[in-house]
Amino acid sequence: HEEIRTIADVTRFHAKYRPGHLAARFEGRETTYGELDQRASRIAQALAAAGLTKGDRVAYLGKNSDEYFELFFGCAKAGVVIIPVGWRLAPPEVQYIVGDCGAQLLFVGPECTECAAKIVDALPQLKRVVAMEAPSGDWPAFADWYGSHPADDPQVELSDLDPALQLYTSGTTGNPKGAQLTHLNLAGARVEMQKDPEDWNEWTPDDVSLVAMPVAHIGGTGWGYQGYYAGALNVIAREFDPTQVLDYFVKDGISKLFMVPAAIQIVLRQPNVREVDFSRLKYILYGASPIPLDLLREAMDVFQCGFCQQYGMTETTGTIVYLPPEDHDPAGNQRMRGAGKPFPHVELRVRRSDGTLADPGEIGEVETRSNHNMLGYWNLPEASKEAHTDDGWLKTGDAGYLDEDGYLYIQDRVKDMIVSGAENVYPAEVESAIYGHPDVAEVAVIGVPDDRWGEAVKAMVVPKPGTSPDPSDIIEFAKTRIAHFKAPKSVDFIEELPRNPSGKILRRELREPYWAGRDRQVN
Ligand code: ATP
Ligand code: MG
Repeated sequence: HEEIRTIADVTRFHAKYRPGHLAARFEGRETTYGELDQRASRIAQALAAAGLTKGDRVAYLGKNSDEYFELFFGCAKAGVVIIPVGWRLAPPEVQYIVGDCGAQLLFVGPECTECAAKIVDALPQLKRVVAMEAPSGDWPAFADWYGSHPADDPQVELSDLDPALQLYTSGTTGNPKGAQLTHLNLAGARVEMQKDPEDWNEWTPDDVSLVAMPVAHIGGTGWGYQGYYAGALNVIAREFDPTQVLDYFVKDGISKLFMVPAAIQIVLRQPNVREVDFSRLKYILYGASPIPLDLLREAMDVFQCGFCQQYGMTETTGTIVYLPPEDHDPAGNQRMRGAGKPFPHVELRVRRSDGTLADPGEIGEVETRSNHNMLGYWNLPEASKEAHTDDGWLKTGDAGYLDEDGYLYIQDRVKDMIVSGAENVYPAEVESAIYGHPDVAEVAVIGVPDDRWGEAVKAMVVPKPGTSPDPSDIIEFAKTRIAHFKAPKSVDFIEELPRNPSGKILRRELREPYWAGRDRQVN
């Protein structure tokens, strides 16, 4: 893998050493690495013929597909930056992102043609729209658009710091920001990552990886990229459909997959989940939001495979910290409450609000430095500056601590921390405690204004179907598991929690009605 310096080298490398090996399977259609590499070359030629050169930009609006990844590798060969846009977004949100990123071409999946049709006229910088899978109106089909171009590799000269991919953050704490990720982030840094001798991180071409999280997020594009990088077979799911996900395990013999905790919970709710044969599954990687301990234990019991937690963010090209399988103890030891340890080449530190370094066990803001860190946010110089320290570390916006062994424990977002009296309360810890209550299906914890304490802890609970728990019972239950000052002062019941497409709970939306007209102080 030392030969893989840029993303463009990935398909070149595998096409050279194992051209006939399967690279992707999508709804019964299969592609080999040889074919993938040739298509990437043709796509790069088509991009050049459309007048795009290194640093120019294209957007993709659609669900997951094999063609999306072909476009991804084609862009890499042309030096063009690709911006995948979430298919769940409303037309004005899509219009904002496609306009903001300066895309000259828009590639549209069949599920998004209506949305795209509504916005293209308002985007004067767009030169052309191309339809994935089948033509749509005046928009040519993707395969026809690039198919007649020669399969000669354009061999565009690329440097490590050239951007390749721009992913928008999930927008959990505010407006999504476009993180620019480079060839170094996705290729050079992977070489380092793969040097880590841990078994869960060892990939072989025999691995079969399921790509089921949306490609507009690092858990989709980054995870899919990892499978290609390893020369493995990627089974691509158009979207996360829980009933189909179970089929993949049996039919395709998935050996590895990445899921966010919300997705794990949905799979576990499938009535026949305990009858499925998961024996070919080696590892489930999970992360992107905190996981309640009870949910993790249940998942370990059902899947009976290795589990590895991942901590990272869009700005760090995904994972920089992992909790290895051997630290997953069904009894739930201390380490299982944390996010794990950094890759050997990743630096972590925790700082107090006065800027000094926190002691082990002391909570502060987590900062990191490595070649996984983004180039910066697109078009947001102020936000880019704010996200970095003067000495070049990335501020994660997460509150957490490191233990004596260098294991990281994420408490929660700095912005979501509840200051109640003189005490800091981290919602994730309270949620994890309440989640164990037998009548609780889901829970989110927020701070609401309180005349005496500044903020008071409130739990928003989705009860399990057919139950109607008593608020005081939930509060008492929490007090048996966490310190009394952390337990909620009040409990409200709601039907569903607001989540974004990465499955993250939007606490700012839950907070809003309680804070209407007031300013919430954030540290
Ligand atoms: P925005 O930055 O727009 O508010 P976001 O931070 O949710 O959105 P992402 O980059 O998708 O966007 O998510 C990164 C964040 O997800 C991290 O900063 C952290 O808060 C959370 N996260 C990731 N992995 C874990 C994990 N293993 N445990 C707890 N939280 C995690
Ligand atoms: Mg963030």
